[in-house]
Amino acid sequence: MPDHPTVEPEAGAPPLAPTLDERGLARALSGRHFIGGAFVPASSGTTFAVANPATGEAIARAAEGDAADVDAAVREAARAQKAWARLPARKRGALVAQCGAVLRAHSEELARLITLETGKALRTESRIEAQNVADILEFFGGLGGELKGESVPFAPDVLSVTVREPLGVVGAIIPWNVPMLLMALKIAPALVAGNTVVVKSAEEAPLAVLRVCELINRVLPPGCFNILSGFGPECGGPLVAHPLVRKVTFTGSVEVGKIVATAAAQKLIPVTLELGGKSPMLVFADCDFDRTVTGAVTSMRFTRQGQSCTAASRIYVERPIFDRFVAALAARVDAMVMGDPLDEKTDIGTIISDGQFAKVRAFIAEGQATPGATARVCSKLPEDARLAGGKFIQPVIFTGLPDSSRLVQEEIFGPVTVVFPFDDTEAVLAAANDSEYGLAASVWTNNLRRGLDLAHRLEAGLVQINQNLVVQANLSYGGVKSSGLGKEASLESMLEHFTHKKTIMVNYA
Ligand code: ADP
Repeated sequence: MPDHPTVEPEAGAPPLAPTLDERGLARALSGRHFIGGAFVPASSGTTFAVANPATGEAIARAAEGDAADVDAAVREAARAQKAWARLPARKRGALVAQCGAVLRAHSEELARLITLETGKALRTESRIEAQNVADILEFFGGLGGELKGESVPFAPDVLSVTVREPLGVVGAIIPWNVPMLLMALKIAPALVAGNTVVVKSAEEAPLAVLRVCELINRVLPPGCFNILSGFGPECGGPLVAHPLVRKVTFTGSVEVGKIVATAAAQKLIPVTLELGGKSPMLVFADCDFDRTVTGAVTSMRFTRQGQSCTAASRIYVERPIFDRFVAALAARVDAMVMGDPLDEKTDIGTIISDGQFAKVRAFIAEGQATPGATARVCSKLPEDARLAGGKFIQPVIFTGLPDSSRLVQEEIFGPVTVVFPFDDTEAVLAAANDSEYGLAASVWTNNLRRGLDLAHRLEAGLVQINQNLVVQANLSYGGVKSSGLGKEASLESMLEHFTHKKTIMVNYA
């Protein structure tokens, strides 16, 4: 990661009241983890730079966590867990819901801060994420009473019951694309179920999640929710390996997911993985055309520069409407405004980091160099001189690529989609399923019988007909094949992944 000029931490703590000064807040959050109810520096005293991807300016420094910081945080979490688990489950839920209300009061502040550090557009992305975070906490906060067991008819004079018990300390590792939301999907069910949590934030986006942790700690007892910033192997690795961590939940790449799962297997602890995707969108000629074009723009998450696991990065369009659809989609994306992510007019912000910028541009160059391929490069780069160093990439819609192309097979995590014509339903289903991934899929048709048939046969954890929403509270979310292991966002996910079932038998004969 490139370094930038040092940003001195602001003297004193971040403001108590919501603030709209995102730069001041970023400086005030500099250089610290949040452990045991307080901001603490890295034990090594080392920090790393956090930059605004829209300008390249240094906005903060983050504490660089290592095994010693992990140990301190996990011990605090383990200490807090005993008393937290003894609280009545509905009381824990009520406290988590109260955290949601605090976050809602700070949602504009959080939206501005996450925009500053990730380059996502404030109006089209960050505000939605900030609201969804509060929603997730409020949703899980209402589920405390659902941590119920069963009575089992074992034998006369023997009362047999099961109870749901927490696992202990949960280690959570999160990525940078929607860090507050993806963190909420882990911490909310973990906490309501009586666990305590240590989160390792993504090195590219450590600030907004740190502020969320501080805000939540205004409500929860100290030590229940701790957060560390730092790099993967040096900070995430020791977290997974720590003997007191009894469950790991991870969102990120397939490659690192396998490392995490292997390390968790050494300790025989459960692991939940939310990994990549190469989600297909199937468009039939009988669809509602305009609605489907709009749906393709949202499905492709162009407003998040395509940096989404569920992005519709493969679009299959029935041949009679193929040319018209590609032209309409390109026109719609062309009209989107790229610019300063904090500007209300901006639809599309920037790519997160130099590494992702180079990777996405390499995919685009490869596609453009492929014989027979057409690249429709949409929208305009911003002209503002302040943004000259920004990691902006114009969205690209490809047609004419062979199935074997890396752009068709691999997750790009950028504003790039590939569009294919199709003639036959069985053939398009086979193409859609011909992927190592299986996170999400969508079908666009007015023939509900066909839509439902395909919904059953598409290999994906989430299939939507005539819409393609992001993860929603109360609906199980998670992939099959290389897209992951386990589900998130629902009551079942809380019960299955953050509790174990204990059997108690009473012989009263
Ligand atoms: P992305 O491509 O989204 O950056 P990664 O899988 O590289 O996805 O990173 C997701 C998260 O996993 C980040 O918080 C990162 O620091 C962490 N991470 C990376 N390598 C490791 C590792 N070896 N052990 C634990 N966590 C890791």
